[in-house]
Amino acid sequence: MRAGLYVHIPFCRRKCFYCDFPAFSGRRPGAVFRYVQALRREIQMVAEALSGGDYPAGRSGPERAGALAGEPGREPARAFSSVYFGGGTPTYLDTDQLITLLETIRETLPLEEDAEITVEANPDPATLTPEKLQALASCGVNRLSLGAQSWQNHHLRALGRDHTAEQTEEAAAKARAAGFANLNLDLMYALPGQTLGEWQRTLERALALSPEHISAYSLIYEEGTPFHRWLQGGRIRPVDEEEERAMYDLAYALLPQAGLEPYEISNFARPGYESRHNLLYWQYENWWGVGVGAHSHFANRRWRNWTTLDRYEAAVAQGILPVAESIELSLEDEMVEMILMGLRLAQGLDGGAFHERFGVTLDEVYGPIIDRLVDGGFLARTAGGGLRLTGEGRPVGNAIFAEFLDPVPVFRRNGSATRPVLRGGFR
Ligand code: SF4
Repeated sequence: MRAGLYVHIPFCRRKCFYCDFPAFSGRRPGAVFRYVQALRREIQMVAEALSGGDYPAGRSGPERAGALAGEPGREPARAFSSVYFGGGTPTYLDTDQLITLLETIRETLPLEEDAEITVEANPDPATLTPEKLQALASCGVNRLSLGAQSWQNHHLRALGRDHTAEQTEEAAAKARAAGFANLNLDLMYALPGQTLGEWQRTLERALALSPEHISAYSLIYEEGTPFHRWLQGGRIRPVDEEEERAMYDLAYALLPQAGLEPYEISNFARPGYESRHNLLYWQYENWWGVGVGAHSHFANRRWRNWTTLDRYEAAVAQGILPVAESIELSLEDEMVEMILMGLRLAQGLDGGAFHERFGVTLDEVYGPIIDRLVDGGFLARTAGGGLRLTGEGRPVGNAIFAEFLDPVPVFRRNGSATRPVLRGGFR
């Protein structure tokens, strides 16, 4: 059983037009200072919770976490194997603030010696200076994730990004000079008006920087964002499905040729450089998120922090974990979530891990559905009773995932064992 720590820094110089993350623009230094102080206090509260102490739990938050423990019969994690500073723009903080947070984590929480420590950054030189990069590298940050997104400046402007393609190249050079040997570039495709040729140039220019990892996501028009409004109002037109599929296929053709293998639907890495932190999500392990709007999943519980600075800071000031809502997952919830996450991986869902967690095999629960999808060529069986999407299944992954949602067999906990009780009509 492994666990990661996610640290949310909710500040950006300005808000991108497609962004629905908890990220605030134009905050003054005083507000940023207060937030960093609150974050340090929350990290201390997490340490207290993990050491088994009782703590107030928000409205319905977790009551007792135990020593990084999970469920009866499961091996507890000894320490966090990864730390991920995400945002927002973590490098919006000044160097001293970032180092203070890193020191607080190291002094307060159990961290594996070789933990992967990632910081997300925007390429704009106002927030990413050579001095900051050098300080981060010398404090043990060993992975940098740059939000490059596109190599066409007109697309960057249209997205509301506050950097240019040239600044992305300069940022990558600064990161290498500071000693970062593990560099990720985030890219986006299916942008309004984007051509296949432009996407190809973006991929080629990104590869010219020899990154160890690339994340390539299609643009999503999230409700509540300017992009969603503009789409509804006809001001922007999405690329059509065929074009989007061609862009996806192009990434799958070009990136492996350059040594970056797809290990998750949208993520490519040189062997050994897969994101250890993100693998925790896809392998359905544990993560504790601190900061505004951060999500957590520990054992059979999932919770979310307050999404406004005021409520978040008020809770922390009272010595209360800033949990806005929390649910205890049923066994059905956990099974579905583990399947949906695991099938995103190229190696697929680990049948042994599923059996170890639930005491039953995938086939015992989903036999007829699996048989049908395997016969249709969308899923393949893997060694150890696991499953993976095939080349046919990957582009229609969402439809495949939906097959596992309904009907759902009902399981009940019975001590540390599980006992299947199937709803009528299934099997
Ligand atoms: S930089 Fe990232 S977090 Fe900040 S506004 Fe843009 S997309 Fe959102």
